[in-house]
Amino acid sequence: MSKKIILLTIALGLGFTLVQDLLKITGELELHVLDIGQGDALVLQTPEGHTILIDGGPGTGVLEGLGEVLPFFDRTLDLLVLTHPHEDHVAGLVPVLDRFEVKGVLLSAPDYENQTYKAFLARVAEVKIPVYLAEAERDFEFGSVTLDVLYPFEPVSGKMENVNNASVVIRVVSGENEILLTGDAEQEVEAELLAAGAPVSADILKAGHHGSRTSSTPEFLEAVGAELMIISSGTGNDYGHPHEETLAKAEDLGMEVLRTDLEGTVSLIFSTLHFVPRVYWLRSILAPRLRSFSSRPS
Ligand SMILES: [Zn+2]
Repeated sequence: MSKKIILLTIALGLGFTLVQDLLKITGELELHVLDIGQGDALVLQTPEGHTILIDGGPGTGVLEGLGEVLPFFDRTLDLLVLTHPHEDHVAGLVPVLDRFEVKGVLLSAPDYENQTYKAFLARVAEVKIPVYLAEAERDFEFGSVTLDVLYPFEPVSGKMENVNNASVVIRVVSGENEILLTGDAEQEVEAELLAAGAPVSADILKAGHHGSRTSSTPEFLEAVGAELMIISSGTGNDYGHPHEETLAKAEDLGMEVLRTDLEGTVSLIFSTLHFVPRVYWLRSILAPRLRSFSSRPS
């Protein structure tokens, strides 16, 4: 191949990458539930361009997932959330700390024996990233998007019988759109939230604990009243997640269900407009799995 053809090929390749990356900037809220196997790793991109990563999944797959949904020049995470210190949520965050500039870490910090969790905390301290202990009183604002922390009510510390129930529960509010992210919170937390009158209603629910039967009680699902339930679980996982009972409850309530074990990465773009921006159509051709979501009029 001549030099000219090689240069032209490189130029075309770079041009295509640049166009693809520019198309990633939509000016709308985006949620990507990454396909990282059995675990959780979610990316939120605000209309103003902030990026928030919630959990990192069980391995390094999160890096590939971030590469797919973020423009190549975006190496900054405005907030990194660790919902609780189980391996399937924390492991991927360690390599993320090495490759991204992280502006802040929000976590629930029970005393829990896990070497990866300890390595994560040590690295966060070493890089001197500001750490916020999750509590309902402390919410976060990124441009037009609010992260309303609903749980834990007060900062968690000490040993716990079940660290799933230390999970940070966040309601993301952006204009008319509301997304409820529950980590691996189980039915005990759901009951506490309902008893406290916490504002759990949302259009989208990321189901607790990978669709396990130990989360998603009918009372909780009814109070959330979501149109769509997203379940993050690995294909053929050892736990049988999502459990049939959870899927049946969602069906009873007329919730659509999207699962990462069946669909791969689930990407939603939230349009607050009555029309879908033109850029979305271009993107949808390049990334057919991207779905537009507009909340039903209330
Ligand atoms: Zn988990």
